[in-house]
Amino acid sequence: MILILTPNIEPENDSYKQLMAHLSRLQEIKVRVHREQGIEQTITELYLIGNTSSISVDDMKGLPGVERVVRVSEEYRVLGRHRDDDRPSHFDYQGLRFGQETLHLFAGLCAVDTREHVELMIRILRDNGQVCTRMGAYKPRTSPYSFQGHGKECLPYVFELAGKYGIKVIAMEVTHESHIDEIRAALCRTGDPTGVMLQIGTRNTQNFELLKLVGRQKEFPVLLKRGFGITLSESLHAAEYLASEGNHKVIFGLRGVKTNMGDPHRNFLDFAHVPVVKRLTRMPVCIDPSHAIGSRTRGPEGILDLLHATAQGVIAGANMVLADFHPAPNRALVDGPQALLLDELPHFLEDVQVSRDAYEKRVALASGYR
Ligand code: PEP
Ligand code: MN
Repeated sequence: MILILTPNIEPENDSYKQLMAHLSRLQEIKVRVHREQGIEQTITELYLIGNTSSISVDDMKGLPGVERVVRVSEEYRVLGRHRDDDRPSHFDYQGLRFGQETLHLFAGLCAVDTREHVELMIRILRDNGQVCTRMGAYKPRTSPYSFQGHGKECLPYVFELAGKYGIKVIAMEVTHESHIDEIRAALCRTGDPTGVMLQIGTRNTQNFELLKLVGRQKEFPVLLKRGFGITLSESLHAAEYLASEGNHKVIFGLRGVKTNMGDPHRNFLDFAHVPVVKRLTRMPVCIDPSHAIGSRTRGPEGILDLLHATAQGVIAGANMVLADFHPAPNRALVDGPQALLLDELPHFLEDVQVSRDAYEKRVALASGYR
């Protein structure tokens, strides 16, 4: 059960103290406090943990300082969408709103290789009105002999260039807790020119200790990729690990699943799950067409499979798109075959807009039939 308190309530307030005193008398119920500092107000939520079936929602609503009460089901307690649950399905970061109704594009390098490539990439994003990007510094690779990413060495110039060209958020995968400290330190040293969204890759979706550590910090939002060989429900539980530790700024990423039924694509596209994740949880949903498709093959009408896949996710209501681009894909150290070229960015952006417009028309159409 979740008690949502009146905005801006402080632990020093009498109503808060009376409420806590009352809750402490409930038998075998633990209270976990979650405070979320928003732009306009601070929201406090109390999670009652234990067997709450005998606790009445109306009794809780009557307690001092309580504004709303949500009785949660067992699954996805924090991030889930429960009955009569009007908690928000968005969060704000770096002046941008990430929610189930917004759309942000994160085009960029799968892996940072050279400073020159980073600058070419970021500059063209700026020239096309983009404020987010993806940049891999820590790369989990199948083979230990493959390039593993430049790690902390590249962070200062990546962050400086992001600041120089007005990039507000960089999605960047981390595979170890030390990477978060390195990112924090590099941001601090360069004067916080940009923001970072920590990405947990598909190979780490069920790395529970990493999830707990990433969930314990509330500074950076998190993009959790779906595990490529587990059920959707298992991946949603993984997201709940982040939230249960305190970080509710979580975006769920679909990137295809591993099966040879998807051949000749790299993974089997799962973008039909965009509305499913939005129905089951309050998380914004990201799609990664690059890692799902894995190549630059085209349909007979001349449209890249990558663009078709992106369109399928966006027209189904995706809220974020992660897309690999590279100034010279044949020289890319990771995933060159699936990278779009920089001069394909305007076409990509226009094509996304076509799908987004169609999605919005579909939403309006549906509302007329309800
Ligand atoms: C990536 O986005 O660079 C990546 C490695 O993705 P995934 O974890 O989905 O394979
Ligand atoms: Mn990649």
